[in-house]
Amino acid sequence: MSKKIAILGSTGSIGISALKVVKKLSPSFQVVGLTAYRNAKELAQQVRAFRPKMAAILDWKFFPELKALTQGTSTQILAGAEGLVAVAGESGADMVLSAIVGAAGLKPTLTAIEKGKDIALANKETLVMAGDVVVKAAKRSGSRILPVDSEHCAVFQCLNGSSPQDVHKILLTASGGPFRNLDRRRFSGITRAQALKHPTWRMGPKITIDSATLMNKGLEVIEAHYLFKVPYPKIDIVIHPESIVHSMVEFVDGSVLAQLGTTDMQIPIQYALTYPKRAASPVKRLDMARVGSLRFEEPDHRKFPCVRLAYEAGRKGGTYPAVLNAANEVAVRRFLEGRIKFTQIPAIIEKTLSRYRALTNGNLDGILWADRWARAHASNL
Ligand code: NAD
Ligand code: MG
Repeated sequence: MSKKIAILGSTGSIGISALKVVKKLSPSFQVVGLTAYRNAKELAQQVRAFRPKMAAILDWKFFPELKALTQGTSTQILAGAEGLVAVAGESGADMVLSAIVGAAGLKPTLTAIEKGKDIALANKETLVMAGDVVVKAAKRSGSRILPVDSEHCAVFQCLNGSSPQDVHKILLTASGGPFRNLDRRRFSGITRAQALKHPTWRMGPKITIDSATLMNKGLEVIEAHYLFKVPYPKIDIVIHPESIVHSMVEFVDGSVLAQLGTTDMQIPIQYALTYPKRAASPVKRLDMARVGSLRFEEPDHRKFPCVRLAYEAGRKGGTYPAVLNAANEVAVRRFLEGRIKFTQIPAIIEKTLSRYRALTNGNLDGILWADRWARAHASNL
C-alpha cells in the first residue's frame, strides 16, 4: 500500500525537492494534498502532474486562476487559511510535510498534528514559536515529528533512539554564511544581493537571509531543544564552512557521532518520508577524497548577535521565542524590501525583545498574541 502525503508549501524550495523525492519513490508514495501562497501556475502544474485529492492557495485573488488552470482534474480546489487547514487535516494524508515558510505554517501544521498525522517538519518557525504546544499536541495525538532540517535530521540519525540522558552535547554545524570572513566594520554596507548568495545551499529567500545573519542557527538551537528534549547548555554551534558534516552528537561516554552528506535537501526529506526505512536514491555521492579536509571553528558572536538573542529567548521560554521569531520575520522582510540595513536586523529583534513584557502564558492564544505584538512593535521600529 502506498503512503499518502500532503505537502504544505509545495511550490517552495523544499516543496519542489520533496515532489522530486516522491516521484522517485512512486508508487510507494502518493500525493493527496498540495498548497501554495500565490503561485497558481506552479501549483496547477503540480496538480496536473500529481493528481492530489485537494489543493489550496492561500491568497483568494489567485483562486479563479488556479480553478481555471486545473479544470478537468478531479482535484478539489480550495483557498484561504481555511483551505490550507483543510488540506492539512482532511486530504486523507498519513503524513504531512510542513514546508511553508514562517509563522503562517503554525495553524495547518498544528491541525495535522491534532489529527494524529505524522509530520515531516521543515517549517522550523512553527516549533520555535510554539514548541511546547506542538510537542504536547503530538504526544496527545500520537503524531510523530520527523525533522527535515538537515542538522536535525543528522542529529536524529546520530541519536538513533538514544535517551536524552545519554547525550552530553548536540553540536549543530553552520556554514557561517556568506559573511564569515567579512570584517565587522563592513556589515552595515551588506546588500540584499550579497546576503542572498549562500555559499553552500540553495534555499528560499527568508532562510537564506537567516543564514547570513546566523539567526537560522539560533532558530535551529530552539528547534533542537524541542525536538530532542535537550536543555540549552547542551546545544552548541560550530562553524563548518564545507557543510559536509550536517551535525554531531557527543555522548556521555565521549563518543561523537556525525552524519555526513552532500548539500542536497532531498536526502533529509527522503529520510523523513521513509523513516525508519531507507530507500536507494540517485543523489550525488559524497567523495571524501575530493572534499580533502573539513574545517571547524567557533562562531563570532560580535559579528552575529542573532545567535545570542536566540539563546536568550529560548532560555526564557514561554512566549519569548515567538517574539524573537516574529521580530525576525518583520526585519528580514524589511531588509529584502531594501528598507533597512543588514545590521538593523539584529538591532530590531533585540529592541523588540527588550521591550517585551510577557503578560500571557505560553498557550496557543498567548503565543498568537505575542506574535502579533512583536510584529506591530518591530514594524514601528
Ligand atoms: P520558500 O520561500 O522557497 O517556499 C515557501 C513555501 O511556502 C512556498 O510554497 C510558498 O508558496 C509558501 N508560503 C509562503 N508564505 C506563505 C504564507 N504566508 N501562507 C501560506 N503559504 C506560504 O521557502 P523554503 O526555503 O522552501 O523553506 C520552507 C521552510 O523550510 C522554512 O521554514 C525554512 O526555514 C525550512 N527549511 C528550508 C530549507 C531549504 O533548503 N530551503 C532547509 C531547511 C529548512
Ligand atoms: Mg538547517
